Amino acid sequence: MNIMPRSLPNYRKAHPLGFRMFLMVLACSLLFSLISTCLQLYSDYHKERNAIEERLRLIESGYLDSLSKSIWDLNIEQTRLQLKSILDMPHMSSLRLESDSFAQPLVIGDHDQSQTSAIPYRFDLGYQSPTLGRQHIGSLALWVDEGSIRQQLLQGAMITLFSYTLTILAIAFSIMFLFQRLVTRHLEAMARYVEQLGRGHLDTPLALSRPEHRQQDELDTVVSALNNMRQAIRQDLEHGEQERRQLKRHKQELQAMVEKRTRSLLRAKEAAESANQAKSRFLETMTHEIRTPMNGILGTIQLLQHARLNETERGYLHTLRQSSEHLLMQLNDVLDYAKLEQGMLSDEQVDFSLTGLVQDCMALMQGYAQEKRLTIDTELAPELHHYYRGYAGRLRQVLANLLANAIKFTEQGSVQLHITLKTHNRLRFTVHDTGIGIPPEQQQRIFHRFTQADESVTRKYGGTGLGLAICQTLVHAMGGTIGVNSSPGQGSEFWFELPLKPVSSPPERPEITPVEAIDSLSILLVEDMPVNQQVITGLLEHDGHLVCLAEDGESAIAITAQQSFDVILMDMHLPRMDGITVSRHIHDHPGQLNKDTPIIAITASVMPGDIKRYLDAGLQAVVAKPVHQQKLRQALMGACGTDPIGRPTAHPDLQPQGLLAENPLLAKSSAILGKHQVKTLLARFRRQLPDDCRALAEEMTAGDPYEIEQLAHRLAGASAMLGFAEFSRLVQQIETHAHDQAHIPASLPGELQDAMAGTLTQLDALLTELEQPH
Ligand code: ADP
Repeated sequence: MNIMPRSLPNYRKAHPLGFRMFLMVLACSLLFSLISTCLQLYSDYHKERNAIEERLRLIESGYLDSLSKSIWDLNIEQTRLQLKSILDMPHMSSLRLESDSFAQPLVIGDHDQSQTSAIPYRFDLGYQSPTLGRQHIGSLALWVDEGSIRQQLLQGAMITLFSYTLTILAIAFSIMFLFQRLVTRHLEAMARYVEQLGRGHLDTPLALSRPEHRQQDELDTVVSALNNMRQAIRQDLEHGEQERRQLKRHKQELQAMVEKRTRSLLRAKEAAESANQAKSRFLETMTHEIRTPMNGILGTIQLLQHARLNETERGYLHTLRQSSEHLLMQLNDVLDYAKLEQGMLSDEQVDFSLTGLVQDCMALMQGYAQEKRLTIDTELAPELHHYYRGYAGRLRQVLANLLANAIKFTEQGSVQLHITLKTHNRLRFTVHDTGIGIPPEQQQRIFHRFTQADESVTRKYGGTGLGLAICQTLVHAMGGTIGVNSSPGQGSEFWFELPLKPVSSPPERPEITPVEAIDSLSILLVEDMPVNQQVITGLLEHDGHLVCLAEDGESAIAITAQQSFDVILMDMHLPRMDGITVSRHIHDHPGQLNKDTPIIAITASVMPGDIKRYLDAGLQAVVAKPVHQQKLRQALMGACGTDPIGRPTAHPDLQPQGLLAENPLLAKSSAILGKHQVKTLLARFRRQLPDDCRALAEEMTAGDPYEIEQLAHRLAGASAMLGFAEFSRLVQQIETHAHDQAHIPASLPGELQDAMAGTLTQLDALLTELEQPH
């Protein structure tokens, strides 16, 4: 018994539901038993009352007559006995008989008038005398003890209640036990199981410890629902796991693909960069190739101008000079554009005379216009100032370009330059001509680089299509705008507007320094090419300088160690040791006599990247080849303090012959780049081709259209550039299929193999031919 109080709270904690159920059963049952006990009490009381009534009636009918007889007979003993037998009846508390027959009333029982719970009943006693008839002989009072009735009933009720309570307790405990066994423990097992599921233990199904052979019930339904749920979760997880694995695989595949593409993009980028470098090299080479002989031509012309010539010869010389300068102008266009593309606008703002600048331009164009029998004149608005501050060099270049175009595209009539004032600080320059004009649809295009109006114009007038692009870039760089009004056959009007700040003072220094006489200088000329040696020495000696010649770097170093010079003119491209190394040696070598002698670079190519290199190496100035007398004089004058340009070179080549001549593209490349370069290109292509074709064939079976397209594009480009047109067409076909994501015909890989074999044979033959000396 002692266990209960201790274990009940524990039970309550461990199985609250069972405990609550127990309490509720207990409370309900107790209430019911209380109610039923009350009802029982009530009905017992009524029953008892009825029994008393019954007994009173029995006394009246059965006892009173014999009692009256005993009284009549004055048999007191008999009377007492009879009264006693009445008193023995349940709940009778006392009797009192009053009769004239007895001297005193007869009282029997424990009669106490103060006892309130006793209820009195009174009977009249009469005797039926055979002679006298009915005679009243007294009265009988009897008291029924209500209190005892109540006490008896209450005792009964208490016993019932007690036994009920015991029964109820037993039932409640049984229910609690049964509920625990049948429901709660299973619910708890299920809860534990669900918890396990939550932790991911999905392998064992739920089984409750219940007898095997019994009827299915609600718990079984819950168990099977839980097991179904476990199964579903497990399937879901397996499915998820599968998807995760699939995703991981996809991710890895994607990563691999991205890496592959990144690699191929990198290859493409490298290819593009090397193509760009090739373009620059080509430009450099071309510049050098043209500028070197031009140096010879212009130099010789300048030398010839000092010679005694008759009128006709002087005329020839003039034409020669003009044509050369025109050629040089075109070359400069290409180079200027290259410089502009790299953002190299070296010119700086200066104060200049507008009229002076216009006159210079006009003087430059005069000869050209006269040749074409065109009148050329200028008109400057009177409100214009004399002096302005701005980019004089760029302005001169734009004006010269527009005027040259006007003359070039005009067969008869005139060319005019008008300068007007738009606003206080804004000038409008207009170049009118009466030439061929430009169709409206071409008017915007012609400002794009390498663009000309149409092919007939190109055929007739030639040109590079760069002039206007340069003008536009320059005008924009100066903060201006440029445009054209023109109609075909009517002539054109090219205009540009510029912000220019008027200044009152004349320019501090003349823009072009006339250099007529310089003190005689001792000059070391380091130059390996005989033509250049001859020309430059001629120009220098003509101006009265003393020239010492060194043919290469080594002899220059040797000479400078023994003799000091005022200036050193250094060709940058020398055999074995380049100009920069030689210059460094001369400047840095301890004890060198010419440690502080200014060195001027003389160089054929004028790419901007090199200028910095030269100046960084301590050279004072750069004079571009072909060497212009005026420029050379300026450089010598500044001895050593202005800023020109320069760079080294490749080698000229022979006319293509044999197999090379059969491939027009290669022939052209060979003419420009040189046989050696072409050979290197072909050899590289030959080395790369089998690998590229294999990679392409692999991609064609793997089926990645992007990779196919990239590879094919590269191959097509390379083969086309080298003139393998048929092979290029086939690869292009593959590229197009891949680009359209179309199915690649099964025959193509085979065709690719055959074409590659054919191209390799051609390449081998070409390379063998190029190996042989001419
Ligand atoms: P280029 O003159 O070297 O071809 P430009 O860029 O200077 O290159 O000119 C581009 C094209 O614009 C020319 O080829 C020509 O068709 C057209 N063009 C330029 N100026 C004139 C002009 N004054 N009259 C007619 N056409 C012109």
